[in-house]
Amino acid sequence: MENYSRRSRILITGGAGFLGSHLCERLLNDGHDIICLDNFFTGTKDNIAHLLDHPHFELMRHDVTFPLYVEVDEIYNLACPASPIHYQFDPVQTTKTSVHGAINMLGLAKRTRAKIFQASTSEVYGDPEVHPQPESYWGKVNPIGPRSCYDEGKRCAETLFFDYRRQHGLNIKVARIFNTYGPRMHPNDGRVVSNFIVQALRHEPITLYGDGTQTRSFCYVDDLIEGFVRLMNADDGFTGPVNLGNPGEFTMIELAERVKGLTGSRSELIHKPLPTDDPKQRQPDTTLARAQLEWEPAVKLEEGLQPTIVYFERLLKAR
Ligand code: NAD
Ligand code: UDP
Ligand code: UDP
Repeated sequence: MENYSRRSRILITGGAGFLGSHLCERLLNDGHDIICLDNFFTGTKDNIAHLLDHPHFELMRHDVTFPLYVEVDEIYNLACPASPIHYQFDPVQTTKTSVHGAINMLGLAKRTRAKIFQASTSEVYGDPEVHPQPESYWGKVNPIGPRSCYDEGKRCAETLFFDYRRQHGLNIKVARIFNTYGPRMHPNDGRVVSNFIVQALRHEPITLYGDGTQTRSFCYVDDLIEGFVRLMNADDGFTGPVNLGNPGEFTMIELAERVKGLTGSRSELIHKPLPTDDPKQRQPDTTLARAQLEWEPAVKLEEGLQPTIVYFERLLKAR
């Protein structure tokens, strides 16, 4: 009975994706009813196959750019392709997913009075002139480049979230997610962690784009999901935007060397051209998350790479 009263009906858009599937698992374990919504553009049923028989799990094939009428208490809006290869495949659809998707989910939240979480991104800072990036930094984003469909789509979604709060009093939660990795990343989405691990396991050349001195900060998925849940459960007055990421900063050369070491790979490092508008450095300032959510990532890069490598080993063997 006590469990019943604490059970919330939670909608997770993009629930069959990398982060979404981990979030479904976490919230089911916490005793909630989950509606996992996905159009399977980049997500796959494999990610949630183990949850399909759970009595409190429901899978719904739907595209967030179309209206949706369900009754829920909370919405986590994660639907959006996240890797450059995928979001640039159909850039118009990417913007629609971020913008129309946000409008529909905010409309749903307004009608049901649900609390609503937005998976925003460090890409809202673009190629930053401020380092590390605090939430108060407005960013340096190219509005007309190949990454703009994603960056500007996510920026507009943030605008919509804050306007729905100002105009309609919605309870919103906006997380700016920095590069996250872990099991269930796509093996061929072109992201650096998945690329390097797959290349290393196959003893193929590891591809450094540019000179490999650009930096990123990598957060393990379990740490990130803990941050999501803390933000959603934080005081109503705390809306974010709040950075969620691991402040440990590495060059791509350092990442390649670590992956090589952990896999015992014979791969050589080779250089390929740097993609357009590729940010030179990125590191979250997590002061706000620490103060407001008492959240701090606990998993070090090497600790998180190990289960990720095991996941890719299994995946490659199964193929
Ligand atoms: P992902 O591609 O694995 O997941 C996105 C999911 O959304 C997929 O299952 C996809 O099929 C679904 N989707 C896409 N368009 C949709 C639509 N129109 N309607 C319904 N479903 C749709 O990516 P991810 O890494 O799990 O990212 C999840 C969210 O987190 C995204 O919004 C992304 O922008 C954000 N994010 C992720 C990272 C990261 O490092 N993984 C960093 C910053 C932000
Ligand atoms: N919407 C939805 N589900 C709902 C309520 C609204 O998908 O339960 C969509 C609806 O199609 C609308 C959008 O959300 O286009 C924005 O809704 P809102 O009420 O803010 O705007 P309005 O309907 O007044 O345009
Ligand atoms: N990168 C790389 N080799 C690869 C894939 C990516 O050197 O095989 C670089 C890429 O140029 C970028 C960094 O790794 O500087 C992170 O790329 P990713 O696409 O994972 O994330 P994002 O650029 O969105 O942070």
